[in-house]
Amino acid sequence: MKRAFISDLHLDRTDEDRFLRFQEFLDVESDRMEEIYILGDLVESWIGDDDDSEFAKRLKETIGGASQKTALFIMHGNRDFLIGSSFCSETGATLIPDSTQLTGGLLLSHGDCYCTDDHDYQEMKILLRSEKWQKEFLNQSLETRRGIGRKIRTESEASTATKAESIMDVSTSAIEEIKCREDVTVVIHGHTHRPGIESHDDGFIRITLGPWEHCGWVCYQDESGFQLKCFNLRDRYET
Ligand code: MN
Repeated sequence: MKRAFISDLHLDRTDEDRFLRFQEFLDVESDRMEEIYILGDLVESWIGDDDDSEFAKRLKETIGGASQKTALFIMHGNRDFLIGSSFCSETGATLIPDSTQLTGGLLLSHGDCYCTDDHDYQEMKILLRSEKWQKEFLNQSLETRRGIGRKIRTESEASTATKAESIMDVSTSAIEEIKCREDVTVVIHGHTHRPGIESHDDGFIRITLGPWEHCGWVCYQDESGFQLKCFNLRDRYET
């Protein structure tokens, strides 16, 4: 089974290069991979599936094109948690919940649920993921939602700037907790923007995907195991 895992693309309408790299990635990999998993923060912000902007339309077309060639799965991150069932039926992508487990002891997560030391973040997450908040938000006009989206992003940037790096990282105890589960041998997550593979003595493997900045981080899985690479539009691979 050939699979590719990506996350933290943070696509938005102002970064054309990044969008082109994502399109190139899907063009190449939707032919080669049997399954592609986007583990959250595909976009910088998502105000609802009814967004009628050019950017939203283009994103749906891009995802829709790829999912005709391969099975495409999307998990919510903290930026795109309002991607819903209409997006999926329009694009043919399948929404999977955070902490989805595949056969072979493979656990998939966006990763923010492991940042348990960041109490402010976790509190905010409870509010934003509540049915009540989402219902009220989606009832506003697209224009109002765009404004609220901008405000939340600015506030989050301001609070991130003042927080210690260690608080925003995955907590050791959260990883220990996963390791305690006998049925989990590998975890793949994103969110922290600290790409790397961590192999533990007991055989447990933690793979952290990276953000799509000057190149796009991808974890590939095949019969031989896992490989973390950075996809580059020009040379295809940087590492
Ligand atoms: Mn995130």
